[in-house]
Amino acid sequence: MMEFLCIDIMNSDRVDWQNAENLRDMLDDQEWFDELLEKWQLEASFPIDTVSHHKLKSLRKQMYAIVSKLSNGDELQRNELHEVNTILEDMSMHVRMVYTNNEFTLAHSYSGNGWILFIWHVAKSFADMLCNYGTARIKVCDNQNCGWVFFDQSKNKSRRWCDDKVCGNIMKVRRFRSRKKIEEN
Ligand SMILES: [Zn+2]
Repeated sequence: MMEFLCIDIMNSDRVDWQNAENLRDMLDDQEWFDELLEKWQLEASFPIDTVSHHKLKSLRKQMYAIVSKLSNGDELQRNELHEVNTILEDMSMHVRMVYTNNEFTLAHSYSGNGWILFIWHVAKSFADMLCNYGTARIKVCDNQNCGWVFFDQSKNKSRRWCDDKVCGNIMKVRRFRSRKKIEEN
């Protein structure tokens, strides 16, 4: 499965959509963050500072707005990339070659660290996703209650739901019911 850090962030306030009373924003949940940092092999220390927290939420909102538009087939205004680009431009990255055990690897170093660097990685993953994989496979789930962003890896790019078993079924049942209602009336 193709995964992107930016998608994990974009879906972070939709984790419990099936449980409306229990709606949570994972960006407020340290345990969730711990797992996320581990998954993407990134480092930042808790608690997250207020400025970074705010910046991350705002970036999430902006990325989600961009993906929703693209998923709808709407055209994007150039200034809608401003926030992502500002974050990308605020960090510089240096690469150097490392030679160990007769093998070469690239080592990266950055002009910032901690949460600022984490936020940059989120924006960078968003940029990599759109620049390397185009827009046709990046979608928002057709189940409006869900709204998960997902990367469609199907051959003909025809997937409509983040999960066929969950959202696909819910939507099929809903459509069946509304059809039935029309027939009954
Ligand atoms: Zn869904």
